[in-house]
Amino acid sequence: MSNEKLTITRATTHKPKPDSEHLEFGKVFTDHMFVMDYTTVRGWHDAQIIPYQPLSIDPSAMIFHYGQTVFEGLKAYYTEEGKILLFRPDKNMQRLNQSNDRLCIPEIDEALALDALKELIKIDYEWVPKAEGTSLYIRPFIIATQPSLGVHPSESYKFIIIMSPVGSYYKEGIKPIKIAVESKYVRAVAGGTGQAKTAGNYASSLKAQEVADAEGYSQVLWLDGVERKYIEEVGSMNIFFKINGEVITPALNGSILPGITRDSILHVLKHWNVPVVERKISMEEVFQAYEDGLLEEVFGTGTAAVISPVGELYWDDKHLNINNGEIGDLSLKLYHTLTSIQLGKEEDPFGWTVEVEQEVTKNK
Ligand SMILES: *Cc1c(COP(=O)(O)O)cnc(C)c1O
Repeated sequence: MSNEKLTITRATTHKPKPDSEHLEFGKVFTDHMFVMDYTTVRGWHDAQIIPYQPLSIDPSAMIFHYGQTVFEGLKAYYTEEGKILLFRPDKNMQRLNQSNDRLCIPEIDEALALDALKELIKIDYEWVPKAEGTSLYIRPFIIATQPSLGVHPSESYKFIIIMSPVGSYYKEGIKPIKIAVESKYVRAVAGGTGQAKTAGNYASSLKAQEVADAEGYSQVLWLDGVERKYIEEVGSMNIFFKINGEVITPALNGSILPGITRDSILHVLKHWNVPVVERKISMEEVFQAYEDGLLEEVFGTGTAAVISPVGELYWDDKHLNINNGEIGDLSLKLYHTLTSIQLGKEEDPFGWTVEVEQEVTKNK
């Protein structure tokens, strides 16, 4: 691992910033990006912040053919006190390395990556939107760049971080979503790449998503790839069930993505002494609880929405109407607690938030 300094090349022109009331997800990017290269000879080197720009990559680069790539997703929030906060960013860098390991991508220096991210936000701090519910979405990713059609781990890579101001997930208030349980296609199996944040998992999920979309469901709930019986997770969210006072989430089994929001929810529930368990849970068990009137709440967790209440589950020709299609009390309380910590409105008993400096620019 090289410990070369980060070099900074500033953009000479600045893009107009979008109106924070009309932000779409991931369409507009900030003025700068972070790039670092890897070669087998030099290791990771040339850490740079440069103006946001297209890449020039050989058409034979391995990323295009065999999908050797990993990514992360996290957010920076602007607080009422005018601070910029990240939420557990060390966990994202740690998970990036776990994904790297699975995809045979060389390990990155997590501390260096986090410092580089902070520097990038510091330079582009004016891009962190201020309107309620908005944030700066951060997308670190690594691609295999070796120009070669042989199937083997690449000998060169690029680690890039781009950032995009994003709007409130809940512009019209928190509305529970309808989810179709997928029994034909599967997302991942134990031993596969389900627990890595890698492009192939998402490419292979599009088909089921398209079918569900056409039927009026916004997401699919994946079942295990072997028996199609046990619940795994949603497209880009982990899933929780509140049954008869107890909160249950599928245990991490190698095919489920270990969400940082999931982990945070588990910590908060334990802190509140709410009964919570990570274990295998089948769709049959959920249906039985529903029939018995014990299925109280269902919600997804992920960086994008934090908490996404589920109002309806469609499974095996049965429509499970959850909590009259409304957000449950515990889901709402978790949403408020987590977003309050992220926005620095509430005490952070877990030490999860990390403040980012803002560059003071003159002559503005
Ligand atoms: C990113 C992701 C999640 C959620 O992870 P967070 O760290 O909470 O954002 C869940 N499932 C999948 C498949 C994901 O890609």
